[in-house]
Amino acid sequence: MSQIQGHQARKRFGQNFLVSPGIIRKIIDAVAPRAADTVVEIGPGLGALTAPLLERIDHLHVVEIDRDLIERLRQRFPPERLTIHAGDALEFDFGALATAGPLKIVGNLPYNISSPLLFHLAEYADVVIEMHFMLQKEVVDRMVAAPGGDSGRLSVMLQYRYSMERLFVVPPGSFNPAPKVDSAVVRMIPRKVGAGETATDLALFARLVQAAFSQRRKMLRNTLKEFGGESLLEAQGIAPTARAETLAVGDFVRLANVLAAQQTK
Ligand code: SAM
Repeated sequence: MSQIQGHQARKRFGQNFLVSPGIIRKIIDAVAPRAADTVVEIGPGLGALTAPLLERIDHLHVVEIDRDLIERLRQRFPPERLTIHAGDALEFDFGALATAGPLKIVGNLPYNISSPLLFHLAEYADVVIEMHFMLQKEVVDRMVAAPGGDSGRLSVMLQYRYSMERLFVVPPGSFNPAPKVDSAVVRMIPRKVGAGETATDLALFARLVQAAFSQRRKMLRNTLKEFGGESLLEAQGIAPTARAETLAVGDFVRLANVLAAQQTK
């Protein structure tokens, strides 16, 4: 068990605290917050990013679940500079903070909940200008993967909403306790989805993508059977023998929109 600044790091909250001044500086430079931005940090922990963010901006919102850390943050930062939202980021209504303008969201995220958290945040893409997150490198590589590479459900669902870029890799020694794997910082910018590229029924699009990737090695004519399989794919000029990871985001949108149109007939 690791002690850091007298705090017992809690595994169940994915606590790996940043201790490398060089990496912290790189992250803050990438975020490049401006004084009047509405910035939200997820999982401030012991304040490794919180303090340098507050050197650049007037006020910061944080969402933290660990009561001991919340108490420390309360003692360290005055409430007019730091608003602490005590609770679970997975249930947090980020939209409620966007009253003064769109949000910049940052965080060295708890890795154990990174996928559900990214899906939760995608619901707020309309009120966000930019997000910067530290995640497991493997997860970042999957998020930004091009078709034919390591793409999966996470890549398709996130690439539909965001332009994403892996900024830099962060080695385990930059944290205390050190995680077992490399990490990476990703920049996510909500993209304006053009008229022809919009999924008309987002829930159907999500179900289709999930089914397509449910068994990675299977051909789409099998995984998409319940959606019309072979005939659906052939009608859209997609080989029924293709596998999900070879399709572009636009292909999934097209398939979902054909299905949505059939349902409203
Ligand atoms: N930002 C700090 C740093 O870089 O040193 C801490 C990062 S640590 C990887 C993740 C932080 O997220 C911890 O402070 C942890 O308590 C918090 N956390 C974990 N699960 C959370 C949740 N569901 N909602 C909000 N915060 C959470």
